[in-house]
Amino acid sequence: MTPTTAPSTGSWLDELPLQLAALDAQHLLRTRRAVSPLQGAHIRVDGQPLLQFCSNDYLGLAGHPALAEAACTGAWDFGVGSGGSPMVNGHSTANAALEADLAQFVQLPRALYFYAGFATNASVIPALVGAGDAIFSDALNHASLIDGCRLSRASIHRYPHGNLAALDALLAGSTSRRKLVVSDAVFSMDGNVADIPGLLALCERHDALLMLDDAHGLGVLGPQGRGSLAAAGLTGAAASPRVLYMATLSKAAGVSGAFVAGSEVLVEWLLQKTRSYTFATAAPALLARALQASLRLMEHETSLRTQLQARIAQLRQGLQPLLAHTGWRLLPSDTAIQALVVGSNTAALALMDGLRQRGLWVPAIRPPTVPAGTARLRIALSAAHTEADVQLLLTALTALAPTAEPALA
Ligand SMILES: *Cc1c(COP(=O)(O)O)cnc(C)c1O
Repeated sequence: MTPTTAPSTGSWLDELPLQLAALDAQHLLRTRRAVSPLQGAHIRVDGQPLLQFCSNDYLGLAGHPALAEAACTGAWDFGVGSGGSPMVNGHSTANAALEADLAQFVQLPRALYFYAGFATNASVIPALVGAGDAIFSDALNHASLIDGCRLSRASIHRYPHGNLAALDALLAGSTSRRKLVVSDAVFSMDGNVADIPGLLALCERHDALLMLDDAHGLGVLGPQGRGSLAAAGLTGAAASPRVLYMATLSKAAGVSGAFVAGSEVLVEWLLQKTRSYTFATAAPALLARALQASLRLMEHETSLRTQLQARIAQLRQGLQPLLAHTGWRLLPSDTAIQALVVGSNTAALALMDGLRQRGLWVPAIRPPTVPAGTARLRIALSAAHTEADVQLLLTALTALAPTAEPALA
């Protein structure tokens, strides 16, 4: 913790209220809001109905009756809790069946199902590399990957976002025998996709392993939503033993948990060596059942992705006239994450507040989460949004847009 107050002679616990007050003074205090669902993307927050553009439920599956039904029957069949580590009694037949379905869905030899995405990243990386080894990490990687890198005690080389030439040079200069390249497959604040074939080519040249976090790609990208690796044509017969694929099941899949997938031997190693797998209670079977239902929908209900893609196209097209005169920038993205960069923190916050007053919830993302001067609205679209929902957002943004010629004071 960074001390923000003068050293005192009392207990350090007495300083916590002062440090909280200091955060408050800097407008850095985070608050939560208790929400309740209404219908689709419409929710109620503090009594107020809001149309939200901030959910990771990109296909609208979190509220799907087929998933609720599967979870309920799973609870009757298996109970609510799993009762133990997967290494002891927690690995239910439902969890085992889900792992087979996951491997088949992403077209990789084998999958391992974890109870949470953050814990997966934080503990899979230390299971792969340690002191004396080297990690090469994209500058915009997710916090859970960063924590995994730190926990591993390997040396960490951060390369500028998406800069393969810089990554190549860092790999060439490394004398470590074990090298791990770690990257988000879809970057969570920008919505852009990593150059997966380019990353893999570098890993082959330098004998490195590539770990991809596809939290925002699974269900959204690739044929039948099989994810970024499938979209890059690197699954099935073209799968590489050099790739460890990871994705959360808490976003487009609409449930909770995560998995890793890759070659038999890589997954067997992680089953043996990942501490958050061995020393944590297995995910409940009812969630595995819900996830099996989710995978079936992701695979067969192509209308979910058609709907999402239509909303993405509608938003991007509808924003074009605003980009010309506002100085706003819409980052390139084919994913559900659409970043509208407005620049200053105050502009982003004012926009968020203005939308909020119009009944729309779109989060403003500020530094240090994103680089200085690139404060933005992070618009998350979903198959649960209707055309009218997106039109409401476009109309509100048009009303709130700064005009070309500011009135003279
Ligand atoms: C959300 C997210 C995670 C964490 O997954 P959880 O299932 O929420 O714990 C990991 N990586 C990325 C890129 C994410 O966006």
